[in-house]
Amino acid sequence: MPTASPAAESPASARIGSDIDYDRFLDCIHCGLCTASCPTYLETGDENNGPRGRIYLMRAIVDGRLDLTPQVERHLDLCLDCRACETACPSGVQYGRLIEPFRASQRHADAAQGRAKNADWFHRLILYGLFPYALRMRLALLPAKLMQWLRIDRLMERLGLINLLPLRLRRMQRLLPKLKPGGPMLPEFLPAIGPKRARVALFTGCVADAVFRHTHWATARVLQQNGCEVVIPRAQVCCGAIHYHSGADTPALRMAQTNAATFDAASVDAVIVNVAGCGSMLKDYAHVAHELDPGNDELASRLGQFVSKVRDVSEFLAELGLVTPPGEIKLRAVYQDACHLVHAQRVREQPRDLLSKIPGLQVIPMMEPEICCGAAGSSNLTEPEMSDRLIERKLKNLLETNPHVIVTGNVGCSMQIQAALRAAGRDVWVAHPMELLDLSYRREKPPV
Ligand code: SF4
Ligand code: SF4
Repeated sequence: MPTASPAAESPASARIGSDIDYDRFLDCIHCGLCTASCPTYLETGDENNGPRGRIYLMRAIVDGRLDLTPQVERHLDLCLDCRACETACPSGVQYGRLIEPFRASQRHADAAQGRAKNADWFHRLILYGLFPYALRMRLALLPAKLMQWLRIDRLMERLGLINLLPLRLRRMQRLLPKLKPGGPMLPEFLPAIGPKRARVALFTGCVADAVFRHTHWATARVLQQNGCEVVIPRAQVCCGAIHYHSGADTPALRMAQTNAATFDAASVDAVIVNVAGCGSMLKDYAHVAHELDPGNDELASRLGQFVSKVRDVSEFLAELGLVTPPGEIKLRAVYQDACHLVHAQRVREQPRDLLSKIPGLQVIPMMEPEICCGAAGSSNLTEPEMSDRLIERKLKNLLETNPHVIVTGNVGCSMQIQAALRAAGRDVWVAHPMELLDLSYRREKPPV
């Protein structure tokens, strides 16, 4: 039975965060063991920008001992929701389940006062109107492709014309990777190669399908090589993370329901995801339903059945047992952990184990592999200063390994790292683990 805040009894029960299960705050014993794993603490050295400090601030607000002043709000806004503090915490504090509902509550309060942060043009047109729709994204990227092809983007950069764009559009333009032909849309069904071992459904998402479709193809081919029939439901939609994390509850819940109905989890052995951020959201659907529509047990149970089938592709292949990839890839690779894979889904060893099975591939360990690269959902657009500091730190650690290829299991990290490499004038291939496995199965040469 969730416990209410002591202050929730009072007429001020509408205060921000008062609907959070108070026991979650009490799990924190203030030991501080999480502090050194927190990127924003490491960068600022300010306890209020670390997990322990933020838990203290949120609890004090819920208790009515502290007002949500702009300064307090700043400490909380700066949190990347990377959840590194969760894997570091010996007390099992579910930090994500404190900061996420707290932020949702904060946004509801803002909206009630007519100052909703998610009502500006950027949220309405870009985050909600463009990113979650693969087709719109593909159409919007056509002029960008043309600009890249004609090198107009580089010219605009050189002449400083890019600086005429609003900051967030400028950052979006700089984040956009070199757009490759991703191949045709994946069909609705791909057969297993060799004896059938499983039937799986592939989640293709929105931005990932528009920008990284080649990774989806690689993932599907790797699954086929491992004896999997792959179904790719056409009616699937965005995972809803963009909406959920910015307080747009109704569309987030609608997307969760659509995906659960579309994937028909009972008909497959697993729903496969190759993007850490989407996988983390899909695995959280039952909790999201419980939070956004409390008391609707039928919905929570339906979403729970879907969640029980969701697997990151590396997690699934490790469970299934990888068919040994035959082709040699003689490269030095460095693997960097995506926060929503290692911290939110606790998938740490599986991608490394899969990569270690590729003949000739040398996987070099790096410093701080689990410290956020600064992509953090849309933080690279909304918190540019912290994002820049973190990617600088990440790039230094990555390049110290002198890699031919940087491997990561999340499109957000991939875009962030590629943009930093371009800005630094470094030409290093950035790939998903499935792209390397795919090359090995196909005995093809890597592009470096
Ligand atoms: S969140 Fe966990 S590690 Fe951090 S201070 Fe609280 S109990 Fe300690
Ligand atoms: S989620 Fe990440 S940034 Fe936020 S407090 Fe935890 S470790 Fe720090």
